[in-house]
Formats: sequence, C-alpha cells, structure tokens
Amino acid sequence: MDFELDDDARAFQETLRRYARDVLAPDYARWEREPLPRERILALGDLGVLGLRVPEALGGVGGSYVMAGVAAEEIARGDHNMTLFLQLACIAGDLIGQYGAPALRERLLPGLARGETLIAFGLTEPGAGSDAASLRTRAELEGDEWVVSGEKASITLAGCADYCVVFARMGGAGAKGIGAVVVPLNAPGVTRTVYDAMGGKLTQRGSLNFDRVRVPRDHQLGADTAGFAQAMEAFDYNRAIIALACLGTAQQSLDETVEYAKQRQTFGKPLARHAGYAFQVAEHATHLAAARLLAYQTLWLRDRGRPHTREAAMVKFLAPQASVQAIHACIVLNGWMGYQNELPHAQRLRDVMGLEIGDGTPEIMKGVVAREIFGREFIAYR
Ligand SMILES: Cc1cc2nc3c(=O)[nH]c(=O)nc-3n(C[C@H](O)[C@H](O)[C@H](O)COP(=O)(O)OP(=O)(O)OC[C@H]3O[C@@H](n4cnc5c(N)ncnc54)[C@H](O)[C@@H]3O)c2cc1C
Repeated sequence: MDFELDDDARAFQETLRRYARDVLAPDYARWEREPLPRERILALGDLGVLGLRVPEALGGVGGSYVMAGVAAEEIARGDHNMTLFLQLACIAGDLIGQYGAPALRERLLPGLARGETLIAFGLTEPGAGSDAASLRTRAELEGDEWVVSGEKASITLAGCADYCVVFARMGGAGAKGIGAVVVPLNAPGVTRTVYDAMGGKLTQRGSLNFDRVRVPRDHQLGADTAGFAQAMEAFDYNRAIIALACLGTAQQSLDETVEYAKQRQTFGKPLARHAGYAFQVAEHATHLAAARLLAYQTLWLRDRGRPHTREAAMVKFLAPQASVQAIHACIVLNGWMGYQNELPHAQRLRDVMGLEIGDGTPEIMKGVVAREIFGREFIAYR
C-alpha cells in the first residue's frame, strides 16, 4: 500500500497550495459581494486545474482523478467556492470527452481547459431532485435539431455558464427515458435566474428555463437512453471531489485554530494546553483525516476502473458532515472573534453546508450505501 503522491501530483499540490494562500484566500470574502472576474477562472485554466479531464491532444492535462482530488483540497484551503469550477470542468470534460461527437469535443474542450468556456450540469428540476429519474424536461427531435423545453433548478454557474449539459426526457418514463444534450445558453428561448443563497455566492447558482430551445443534433451525448447512467457515473467520482473540497476548507479552519490556540492564553496558559480544548481539535483532526483517506481511496479506485459507488456515497455524507462539524467547532474555539466576519470561518461554514446537499443529500447517500450492502431488492429510497 502506497500513500505517497507521485512527483507530478506533489508539485501540482505545492503550486496550488501557494496559489490558494497568496491569491485565493485574500479575496475569498470579496466574491460574496462582487462578481468574480473572468480572469480568475482563466487563471485556474493556466494552472492546469480545468483541463484535468480533457485529453492533452485537445489542450488539457489528461490528469488522474486523484490529481483532481488534490486540486480540490488545495484550492478549497483558499476559496471553497472556486472548487466548483474544477468540479464542473471535470464532469463536462469526461462527459463530452467520452460521449460527445468528435466535432463537439474539438469545439468545446480546448476552451473548457483554458477556462474560456464554462459548462454547467443540469439534472435537478423544481419537481425532481433526489428522485432525479422523474425529471420532466423534454428534448424532441425535429429534423436535425433537438427542441428542449423545461426548467432546471439549483444549477451551479447558471448565471455565467456558456453551455449546460441538460438531462432531458428523450423517451418514456423512468431512468431509461433520459438522454443528455449540450445546450448553448445564448440560444433563443433560454432564460436564467440567479438565486440568493446563504453561501456559494460566486458560483451564481440558479435556474435555467428552456422554452423550445433548438440545439443541433450532434450536441447529444451518447444514446437517448444513456443520460441517467452518465449522470450517475459523474456523481460517483465528483462525490469524492466534493468531499475533498469540504475537507480542505475545514482543515484550513482547523490549522488556523491550532495557531490561535498556541498564542491565546486563558487561566495562565495557552489554550492548546487545556485538554478540554486540545481534545476537541484532536477529535476533529481525526474525523477529517479518516474521511480524507476514504475520499482518496474512492478516486484511486476510479483511476483503476474499479467499482467505487459505495465508497463515493459513504464519503459524500461523511466528509461534508465532518467538515461542517469541524468548522462549527472552530467558530466556538476562536471565541467571539470566530463569530466575526473578519475571520473566514463563518463563510466557510455557509459554503460547505451547500455541499451537504449538492450532488446528493446525506439521506440519499445512506440509501445508496445501504443498497450496495444489502442489494437492489432492498433499496431504501423507493
Ligand atoms: C450548493 C448546491 C449546488 C448544486 N448544484 C447543482 C448542479 O450544478 N446541478 C444540478 O443538477 N443540481 C445541483 N444541485 C441540486 C442538488 O443536487 C439537489 O438539491 C439534491 O439532489 C436534493 O434535491 P432537492 O433539493 O430537490 O431535495 P428533495 O429531493 O426534495 O429532498 C428534500 C429532503 O428530503 C430528503 N429525502 C428525499 N427523499 C428521501 C427519501 N427517500 N428518504 C429520506 N429522505 C429523503 C432529502 O435528503 C432532503 O433532505 C445543487 C444543490 C446545492 C445545494
């Protein structure tokens, strides 16, 4: 068993840790109030973060899933929300790279890797979240075009993406009736609404409405029946990436709290020397470390083409929960200052909480784990 990163991954990790500390962290709070300039996304492209799942021949890095996890963890130390660009670029890179027509791949993937093209992931609808297979958005073939009608809800980057992979009903009811099509968001008939949420402001999450939007037929990804399976395939590793984004954010709060606890004195000695204080730090550090190993194991399995659905679902509820609990503790462990917005803990808590829900809630994740343990005939969530 080898827990070492290879040389490339370690160099990438060090570069991103510096970038997170020097560039991302100082502006983390700023993007709660101001829109993120596009140059910041292009910078992620320059660092190789957005092309991790784009083949080198199309301008990407062709990196491993473990490297994507490393990137999420390091970026999150500076700005949790910036990891959403990485997540969505990996998902779009994989889906379009694997299932898109050659012309579509050549048109979209180089810009995706550079950060010039943002591609959202449109599965959730107002009436279909956890039960995504009941979605109602329709795509009908008319001549050489798909005509897409419906509404997607809670879509990350809805306010700023250039395209969206839209999962739509191309056939009958159920998961097998769902296909995927890449919809240009500047097409006539598309309207966007950005939500006002408790966190994740820079990701411009919102809804996308499609009113008979016409899309070239070759924007379809794979078969009419394959969309739901494609979405689940993407979730299976993005759940581990989400875990590492949450864990990196929480670890940063914990590291800052450790430094504070060495300096701050109460009752004549540093906080770190009060066992009631230090043991809380020890417990949270342990929970984060355990979840981190499960997240990397998931990505390691993915890189080897081995089954990882169970591990992905386990870590998707474990890591965000452990992260929320750790950051919450850090707020209290920093006293009144921890509760102030001058320190980043409160923003981190609000941002990480979003990923307790996004890509599958704890209840649904536990249902997937139980299904993997007991078998499909015992599915808990149907
Ligand atoms: C920050 C963030 C980013 C997101 N980004 C995207 C995105 O880019 N693209 C996208 O398509 N979607 C996105 N989503 C949507 C997300 O995937 C859904 O919110 C999620 O799948 C849950 O669906 P829902 O909100 O409709 O909740 P519902 O399905 O209505 O569930 C409501 C509550 O009931 C519980 N519940 C539901 N069914 C059961 C059951 N069988 N047993 C027990 N409890 C149950 C759920 O766990 C939840 O607590 C995002 C959400 C967030 C918060």
